[in-house]
This record gives sequence, C-alpha cells and structure tokens, in this order.
Amino acid sequence: MRAQPTASHFVNGTYRNCPDGDRFTSIYPATGETIAELTFASASLVDEAMETAAKAQKAWAATAPAERSRILRRAAELLRERNRELSELETLDTGKPLQETLIADAASGAESLDYFASLAATMTGQHIDLGGGTFAYTRREALGVCVGIGAWNYPIQIACWKAAPALACGNAMVFKPSEVTPLSALKLAEIFKEAGLPDGVFNVVQGDGRVGAQLASHPLTAKVSLTGSVATGKRVAALAGEHLKKVTLELGGKSPLIIFDDANVENAVAAAINANFYSTGQICSNGTRVFVQTGIKEALLRRLQERTQAGVLLGDPLDERVNVGPLVSSAQHEKVLGYMALGREEGARLVFGGGKATVASLPEGYFVEPTVFADVRDDMRIAREEIFGPVMCVLDFETEEEVVARANATEYGLAAGVFTRDLTRAHRVVQDLEAGTCWINTYNLTPVEMPFGGHKASGIGRENGHAALESYSQVKSVYVENGDVEAAY
Ligand code: NAP
Repeated sequence: MRAQPTASHFVNGTYRNCPDGDRFTSIYPATGETIAELTFASASLVDEAMETAAKAQKAWAATAPAERSRILRRAAELLRERNRELSELETLDTGKPLQETLIADAASGAESLDYFASLAATMTGQHIDLGGGTFAYTRREALGVCVGIGAWNYPIQIACWKAAPALACGNAMVFKPSEVTPLSALKLAEIFKEAGLPDGVFNVVQGDGRVGAQLASHPLTAKVSLTGSVATGKRVAALAGEHLKKVTLELGGKSPLIIFDDANVENAVAAAINANFYSTGQICSNGTRVFVQTGIKEALLRRLQERTQAGVLLGDPLDERVNVGPLVSSAQHEKVLGYMALGREEGARLVFGGGKATVASLPEGYFVEPTVFADVRDDMRIAREEIFGPVMCVLDFETEEEVVARANATEYGLAAGVFTRDLTRAHRVVQDLEAGTCWINTYNLTPVEMPFGGHKASGIGRENGHAALESYSQVKSVYVENGDVEAAY
C-alpha cells in the first residue's frame, strides 16, 4: 500500500499503537484487498488523548493568533505539496476516482486551512459604553478540547473542515475518523506537526461508535462536531445533551433538485449528473429527488441517458481516466443494490442502470451502475430514504406551489437546487425551501466561505464561513467599573 501511516493513532505528536485494542482493517473497495491493519483505541488511550489535548490547548489558546495563522497556512501548503500522495491514499481508502480526489479532497482541506488561518487574527470582541466612564467589553475565547467525528465519504476534507476553525480559534482537537476510512486523518496529523503545531493540539484516535460515544461524553470534551447519519446524530445529540456539550451535527439528506420548464436543459442535466453520480453518489447534499416540470421531462431524461452512457467510465479508481469508482464497502454495495431492487418493486420506471456493474479486471470491486428511476412517487421509499449511492429519482410536477410543498415534505433539510431562467421565481422558491444550502442554476458547490449545514433533521449548526468560527468559540463579557461601588448600607 502507498503512503501507509506507521501506526493506528496519533497522540501528543507521536504515532501510537494500541496492542490491546480490537483489530480492524481498511480495504481498497475496487479489489476488496486489505490495505492497512489497525487497532481501535482502548478507553485508556482515549483518556490519554483527551488529557494531552487539554494540556496542550492552554498554551495553544495563549499563542498569538497571527502565529496560529502561520502554522495553519504552512499546513495548507504541505497538503498542496503532497496532494498526489494524499489523493492516492484517499482513493485507496474510499474507492473514489483519483480524478476526483486530486481536485476535491486534500485540496478543499487546504482551502479550509487557508481560509480559517486568514480569519484567526480577525476574531475580536466588542466595546460597550455603559456611561460615566464605565464600560464593558467582550472577548471571543476558545472552548477547550473539541471532538471531531468523521464520516467515510470525504475523510480528509471532513477532518480539515473541523480542525481548521477549531484550531484557528485556539481549541485543541481529538479526531476520530470513520473506521471505514481511517488513514488520511493520520497523514493530516503528521502534516500539522511538520507545520509547527505543538504536540497534543491535534490528535487522532481510531475506533467505532463506542470510541465515538466515549469521546462525545468525555468529561474533558467541550464540544463535539459529528458528520454522519441522522441515526448517529440523534445518539450523539443525546449524549451531548446528557453531558451538556456544545454540538454541531452535519447529517444526511434527501435533497430536492427542481427543474422548471424554462431551464437550460444542458445545464440542468449536468447538475443532475453531478448531484447524483459524482463520488458514486456518496455525497450528503446530493439532489437525489429530481423534480422535473412535465413539459421538459422526456427531453431531460433522454439527454440524461445520452450523456451518462457516453460519459461514464467505470473502472480502477487509480486510473485517472476513470470517473465512476466502486462504493466504499461491501455493506454499502448491498444496501444500494437493495434500493435498486426496491425501486423496481415499488413500480418506478427504470430508465437506465439498476444493478451491479462488472469491471472485468476487478471482479471483487463494489461497483454499481449509475441508475435513474422515472415516474417516482413521493410515497416510495426510494424517494424518502437516503440511499447514498448513484440512484437518481425523477419525479414529475406541474406547478411551483405544488413542487415547493412536495420538496419540503421530508424530515431532511440539508440542501436544495432550482433551475429556471426566471430569477424572480428562483429567489421566491429558494425562500420557501426548507434547506440549509440552496443553489440557483447549479448544484453541490460548497466553497469554504459559504456556511454549510442542515435544517430540520439534517443537522444543527454550520461548518465553514464565519459561522464556524462562532461555533468553535464563546463570548466572555467583562464589566469594567470606573466609578465607586454603591452598597445598600
Ligand atoms: P455514520 O454511520 O453515522 O457514522 C459517522 C461517524 O460516527 C463514524 O465515525 C462512526 O464510527 C461514528 N459513530 C457511530 N456511532 C456512534 C455513536 N454512538 N457515538 C459517536 N459516534 C458514533 O455515518 P457514515 O455511514 O460514516 O456516513 C454516511 C452518512 O454521513 C450519511 O448519512 C451522509 O449523509 C452523512 N454525511 C453528512 C455530511 C454533512 O456535511 N451533512 C457530510 C458527509 C456525510 P464508525 O463508522 O467508525 O463506526
């Protein structure tokens, strides 16, 4: 395996093994081969990571923000210098095409580090005049030790989206990657150390939900930030509630992409492809419910089929020409194939795809065909449940009022998209959509400057943008008396 980290955990600036921890493996989803053998962190190693982080955090918070910025910017440079090596590792761990990881994973992590580095020194409080020479001021202070818990679809990006604002604000972090994709967070920890981050400020421990739960409820945890499913979000929120931890939850979705008759069909088709097949459909904000106004439905389906069939190249994700890789794991493969079968049973019209894909040279790979179902009804499970694979559901609609009501009729509220040339209508529709991120005439672009997060069951809080800095810091108010103190007697 390329660029294999030397041990399972990274605590207090050094790689650590945990011989008494349960063993697990990371596999290359294109072949099913083991690429790394690791161990879960024991409860005592988790305690050590938290204690080490708590100690290191005090000095890190006292470091001048300009110096914190410099270290984060240096880490961003190192991520860029090692982009190819990190991208290959991410491709091996996730199965995502190298064509994607080269531009979307470590690269977006570097952008996040640069962005929050530039904001670190801008965190200021307020001066509040109280009259008579008396005043108050506010300080924006770090929270302490923040726990990050990641999903498997964007491992290094998720680690950076959490670490960058947390560290910029003067917090320390203990990060637990998904056990499915444990490797790149360790490389990030190495890079932080090389960039000059003091030992103990960023730590990585491996484990499953038990380790996640220990971290979320640990006495030294000030905040927990989870990226994962709604089911896990509820568990973490319950733990955070019980132990009164601050919490950010970035959860799942079943987002609508609404295409009106007057839309530019080529752009809408391109967006629907990106919103369902990029990363083999394993993106939380995907527009998996594609509502198409009846006037352009058949034309749109025809172009969708032509462009997908002409453009898709399934194969070894390490081959840079390949643009659709396998799903991340055997479990995900079974789950997505199950939904493809369910779509047929529920009576949706299969336009193309619908099953396992075979790549002759990779018979053990977890490949599936990019799939489109048309004539999907709102009550079908394929239209209600998050599939997290390349399965697009196309639903017909007639009126604006109807489509907004149907788009909102879900427990989720992560994202939404609108395609129309009528910009007044676009803004009106977006205003009524119950979603944390909306796109007009594009889909799934998430620049670091733009807050990202969910409405309703899709989450609590925001990552990216100024909003993230606020969620990794707290306000202290200081009242300064310049007069005498009056007592009642
Ligand atoms: P998941 O099963 O919910 O797991 C997410 C993380 O939580 C993993 O690290 C997991 O550990 C950990 N975990 C599991 N049980 C836990 C518990 N009781 N306490 C604390 N941590 C626990 O999600 P996934 O399958 O990895 O990722 C796919 C999901 O993530 C989808 O629903 C997707 O929509 C969502 N997602 C959301 C965003 C967003 O920004 N909104 C971005 C990406 C993905 P192990 O896996 O190691 O056991």
